[in-house]
Amino acid sequence: MKKYKIIIVGAGASGILASISAAENNASVLLLEKMSREARKMLISGKGRCNITNTAYKSEFYKKIHPKPKFLKHAFSNFFSAEILNLLESKGLKTKEERGGRIFPVSDKAADVVNALLQIANDKKIKIIKDAKVEDIISEDKKIKAIKINIKGKHEIIETENLILCTGGKSYPATGSTGDGYILAEKLGHTITDLKPALVPLKTEGNLAEKLQGLSLKNSNVSIWINNKKVSSEFGEMMFAHYGLTGPVILTLSKIAIDAFDKKNNVEISIDLKPALDEQKLDNRLQRELNENGKKQIRNVLKNLLPTKLIPVILELTEIDQYKVCNQISGKERKKIRIILKNLRFKVSGHRGYKEAIVTSGGINTNEIDSKTMMSKIVKNLFFAGELIDLDGETGGYNFQIAFSTGWLAGQSASNSDKN
Ligand SMILES: Cc1cc2nc3c(=O)[nH]c(=O)nc-3n(C[C@H](O)[C@H](O)[C@H](O)COP(=O)(O)OP(=O)(O)OC[C@H]3O[C@@H](n4cnc5c(N)ncnc54)[C@H](O)[C@@H]3O)c2cc1C
Repeated sequence: MKKYKIIIVGAGASGILASISAAENNASVLLLEKMSREARKMLISGKGRCNITNTAYKSEFYKKIHPKPKFLKHAFSNFFSAEILNLLESKGLKTKEERGGRIFPVSDKAADVVNALLQIANDKKIKIIKDAKVEDIISEDKKIKAIKINIKGKHEIIETENLILCTGGKSYPATGSTGDGYILAEKLGHTITDLKPALVPLKTEGNLAEKLQGLSLKNSNVSIWINNKKVSSEFGEMMFAHYGLTGPVILTLSKIAIDAFDKKNNVEISIDLKPALDEQKLDNRLQRELNENGKKQIRNVLKNLLPTKLIPVILELTEIDQYKVCNQISGKERKKIRIILKNLRFKVSGHRGYKEAIVTSGGINTNEIDSKTMMSKIVKNLFFAGELIDLDGETGGYNFQIAFSTGWLAGQSASNSDKN
């Protein structure tokens, strides 16, 4: 029976990186993936464009990662954004920077990122077996001996000197990330912190969002209110969907929303549709529009201020007849419009769950992992990387960087394991 120096479970972002770094030392490496192809999640990431990483300095990265960002100090000092971009460039992948320091491939194709990484793995002669689900881990005296895999119904046992678990979280289970790693690690004595979907679209009460379905706002200021108290705000892009709200700023605020919602608090989202104008400036602007267009209907004049789809909704909420001409709009009605434009409110009624969550918050307790090596403090020849660990980032390329950096360090440490 062939025995590998390192077996890696899961060919996502962290697993592929772990395999590449493990192979740097000429170790015999086997990468196992339960799906019929590698990196399914990466292929759909960033709306098919893959936001690879971010240009932010490490100090900024730490602010975007929860709950213990400094756990990543060694992983980041060993392999950070420049290193992943250099690695990709070695296969000719060119990248570009977009808003908020987000890095994407110039081609806008996530598949190009995956292909570049797989080409590197191929150059390093890493053996990859697909459709291979790791079902169990065989250990003795706190040391892993072998794994049990199921390849299309055929069971096999493969021996290994080291094991790296890179099975991802529970979010977007259709991509293969169904939380297997938590069960495998728990059996080996690890504890899993509270698991929750994170960066997830929010469901809202009523049919307001449904009426605005498909509308995307590029420059909105969105606040979250818990029990009538404003707790956080984000500026940027958001979208309306048939069930509620989504898009980058909503996903970022979803963590606070879910925590508060789970505690049965009243959660509301308020959208400032005119963040560049304070109340007074907005009032002046409205007054000017109404004065200059006295004979025109309000529904037409509001086009100077708002996307067309919003107009009937705003007029319905303010109970103003859309055919009313501007010189008949009273001061009270103008005030109503101003208030709604600065504070379009939605009551949160839930979230879209793991099925649509970008990441899972919670995971293997970082207190049980040596941050210098990614090695388990419980089982000597076991390593962890990626979303499986209790770490999650905000949108902007932070989650892939967590996966790349922890994957690289885990692979490197496992290949040096006999020197430790
Ligand atoms: C829609 C969407 C868009 C995203 N966009 C971005 C983005 O643009 N930028 C960003 O930074 N992050 C993004 N993310 C988050 C990012 O994709 C994840 O954080 C990242 O993929 C985690 O990498 P990972 O290797 O830990 O896990 P995964 O990518 O989930 O990979 C885990 C792999 O393990 C395999 N596996 C699981 N169990 C077993 C088993 N028992 N045996 C064998 N194989 C197994 C799975 O099939 C899977 O291939 C996005 C996520 C989603 C859902």
